[in-house]
Amino acid sequence: MAVPKSKITKSRRGQRRSHDALIADNPNECPNCGELKRPHHVCSACGHYADREVVAQADEIDLDEDAA
Ligand SMILES: [Zn+2]
Repeated sequence: MAVPKSKITKSRRGQRRSHDALIADNPNECPNCGELKRPHHVCSACGHYADREVVAQADEIDLDEDAA
């Protein structure tokens, strides 16, 4: 519900905004390629997760394979 700006004290506004802060990323090093990656996510550089490749990289895929 809309409340007039003048009715919200600086304290109230600050209490509401106490949860608005952004949290910094905490990247890990990829054990395969050494690139920084998000924890518990597939490495965006080499497509590896937990020491195995789970996502083929674009330059490794032969696009003409299905053309025939
Ligand atoms: Zn990697």
